[in-house]
Amino acid sequence: MTGSADLILRNAAVHTLDEPGVVEAIAIRDGRVVKVGTNRSVTLLQGIDTEVLDCEERPVLPGFIDAHTHLRSTGRYLVHADLSGAENRDEIIERLDTIRAEHGGWRVGIGYDESTWSDGTLLTRDDLDAVSDAEPVAAFRVDMHTASLNSAALEQVGADLPPEYVEIEDGQPTGVIYEDALGVVRSAIGGEELTRTLLEVAQEHALSLGVTCIHDMVRGSSVPRAYRELELDRELQLRVRLNYWRNHLEAVRELGLRTNHGSDRLTVGAIKSFSDGSFGGRTAKVSEPYEDGNGDGTWVVQPETLHQLVDDVESAGYQVTIHAIGDVAIDETLTAIERASDPANARHRIEHVELATDGHIERIASAGIIASMQPNFHQWAQPGGLYESRLGERFKRTNRFRDLVDAGVRLAFGSDSMPMGPLYGIHCAVNAPNDCQRLTVDEAIEAYTIGGAYAGFDEDRLGRLGQGYVGDCVVLDRSPWDDPWHIEDIEVTHTIVGGELVYERE
Ligand SMILES: [Zn+2]
Repeated sequence: MTGSADLILRNAAVHTLDEPGVVEAIAIRDGRVVKVGTNRSVTLLQGIDTEVLDCEERPVLPGFIDAHTHLRSTGRYLVHADLSGAENRDEIIERLDTIRAEHGGWRVGIGYDESTWSDGTLLTRDDLDAVSDAEPVAAFRVDMHTASLNSAALEQVGADLPPEYVEIEDGQPTGVIYEDALGVVRSAIGGEELTRTLLEVAQEHALSLGVTCIHDMVRGSSVPRAYRELELDRELQLRVRLNYWRNHLEAVRELGLRTNHGSDRLTVGAIKSFSDGSFGGRTAKVSEPYEDGNGDGTWVVQPETLHQLVDDVESAGYQVTIHAIGDVAIDETLTAIERASDPANARHRIEHVELATDGHIERIASAGIIASMQPNFHQWAQPGGLYESRLGERFKRTNRFRDLVDAGVRLAFGSDSMPMGPLYGIHCAVNAPNDCQRLTVDEAIEAYTIGGAYAGFDEDRLGRLGQGYVGDCVVLDRSPWDDPWHIEDIEVTHTIVGGELVYERE
């Protein structure tokens, strides 16, 4: 029947972000919002097949858009043993002991960080043989560029590992492997099949957090392929925009793929590149040396290469997005993007933009570049935290949300999967350690909805709940406006994508 709605949310406080104030009810038909208004007016669209959700006065917002994710990595933390925060090797062994072997008989842990341990040395085969001498065991370091294997794992994949990435001592492998050798282990653990599982598990998690759309930073073909398989099987519930790694520019161009081409669920986004590294690794390019170490960072991609890449992406007609964290990297990235013919129209983005100067903020605003930022990074920006130890007084000038918004820059918020959680991010932006950089609740929510929609050329479809927008929304158990100091404690009770209930809190 054409007249009646598929889903009605009533008795709600719907923040449409389209009009000021709130409305009581919303009706969705064929995936789109067809009516917002009073309970009475929306009920006129109720038919016998209409599903009705009584929201018991709870707030309803547009679904969150996480504009910078690595969904497979989110899945890894959910599926494998989480080794993050382990304080020594005994704790690692304990955690790997408690999980059951899976995925072709492997035991897998992810996210260990030996830099905080008293001896500060990587895990070896001897350490991991204590977990099992029969089952293969792999522990991935937090940076995902290093891993450690036990003897059974070395026996299974040793012959396939590229020798230049295998650490040898006294003629024997220590168990530590690097870079390309990790790919061999990943295929042994489960390869493509595992990728799909990881995306499925992470998708469920994202929906439970109220995320309805992600911009996923993909490398290699297995993640895009798994997304397309999920979509073909009608199991892709999230809306996904794929930002392809720079190595894929030629392939993307050769196949005739275009930015913004795709379906209702899955679209082609930008071409992405790094410029510098991170504060944690002291590899972000900064103008003054690090406070707790030598050097001022390293280029992951040299400026000349970066400029050439931006030119190539630009002339091929794609959106471009560049990771830039330190002030020197932001400067160089701006110079590269400013040369583009119309950066605002192409909606070019800079990822992270952590240590921007006043001058940079002005340039970002006047070129119309999108600042794709991660408010959850404030977890390291507390006094006495990681950023202060790396940057000294400069830590107070990181993540300048207030200054960027005041300058008219369009912010798109995301999590970088560290970890995923829009309400936590909104909490961090509203309660920023440096109080002159705080955003209002409205501004922070807009950056996690309207901002992401704009960065994905989706502002006519996503990010708001006015009539004609897609029916992507989230019901919260409490209002973030009532108690802005505790937004991180708010829970999602329902998530809806295209008018379909995809998550309900137990
Ligand atoms: Zn990232």
